[in-house]
Amino acid sequence: MHKTILKNYAKLLARVGLNVQKGQEVIIAAELDQPEFVAFVAEECYRAGAARVRVDWSHQPIQRLGAEYRSEEVLSEVPFWREEKLRGELRTLPARLYLDSADPDGLNGIDTEKYARALQARTRILKPYRDKMENKYQWCIAAVAGERWAKKVFPRATGSGIAQDKLWRAILSCSRSLEGNPMENWRRHNADLAARCEYLNSLGLSVLEYESSNGTNLRVGLLRDGVFAAGSERTLSGVEFNPNIPSEEVFTSPMRGEAEGVVYSTKPLSYQGQLIRNFFVRFERGRAVEVHASSGEALLKKVIEMDEGAAYLGECALVPYDSPVNRSRVLFYNTLFDENAACHLAFGRGFTNCVRGYEAFSEEQLHAKGINDSMIHVDFMIGNDDLHIDGVTQTGARYPIFRNGRWAF
Ligand code: ZN
Repeated sequence: MHKTILKNYAKLLARVGLNVQKGQEVIIAAELDQPEFVAFVAEECYRAGAARVRVDWSHQPIQRLGAEYRSEEVLSEVPFWREEKLRGELRTLPARLYLDSADPDGLNGIDTEKYARALQARTRILKPYRDKMENKYQWCIAAVAGERWAKKVFPRATGSGIAQDKLWRAILSCSRSLEGNPMENWRRHNADLAARCEYLNSLGLSVLEYESSNGTNLRVGLLRDGVFAAGSERTLSGVEFNPNIPSEEVFTSPMRGEAEGVVYSTKPLSYQGQLIRNFFVRFERGRAVEVHASSGEALLKKVIEMDEGAAYLGECALVPYDSPVNRSRVLFYNTLFDENAACHLAFGRGFTNCVRGYEAFSEEQLHAKGINDSMIHVDFMIGNDDLHIDGVTQTGARYPIFRNGRWAF
């Protein structure tokens, strides 16, 4: 891939994704296979005035060894220095960039039960820190084309670097960074998403009704003072940033306990390196009470049993069927992309900033208003080209939101 294009993409991540502030610290989490691109991003962060850029390198084969060789007890521990680091970060509030390039199959075959239990134990220790930092710092998840990931997505591409180049193209075109000026493309894209949110938020909807010929028939209740959000967000101190690049979705957190009916998946769900295919979920009083999958059913059941909130919904996201990700016709085996291909729901944690004026409330108050809480947040795709979505208000007024998988307004 051309260096100029990659540098422009790096600039987009530093300036629009993170919007690094003068004097701010930046933490970049990246895989070892991308030193050149990480350096491009680090340079852009310094140009934006970053005081210090730290890179947390990881390497999936070593993560895998850790999962295989360590006992559950050790795997469940959070070393004291990790907590010390977090305490420091609570004071300095660094911006965080997560660069994803890992092999979707890289953890296949590990003991997922052991891994999930250990993750659960670590999350119990780490969650209070995360809760205290929530909405206070800029963060962004974006992708770089890892070699093994590329081979998985383009298995028939032969010759060195060809698959990787194809994956770069797919990533950059979905991220609106292959043509034109990426920063200008995102200014326009963010404006379009903001206008859609404004319209949806003006309607005062209390329910979303989903229907499709594949059998989907679901009613999801919305928060009484909930809002739809999309594209860029703001920290509590008012710094604008884009948490996901790409991002096509207009989303909200639904009302915990108010989902009735059946919903069918329309794309495989890749979870911890494993695929769950062709599944449906039946909801009663907000809770997933029945799931069935043609493959990966046991894993899907494990996902919704992770904790009390895992079987409840945390997100309703609206994504047109003709989004750039879907038009690319690439299955990325990566949620950041695949979730932007179609409408989706998520099991688990909701977004506390989907309540109007959320700044004035505590975490507990926001959860009491109906935002689900869980250690997991797992998206699954339900959009197809004949999905209809209606929005209904408390007084019964009905508005078409989606027709045939696309925006109806
Ligand atoms: Zn989403």
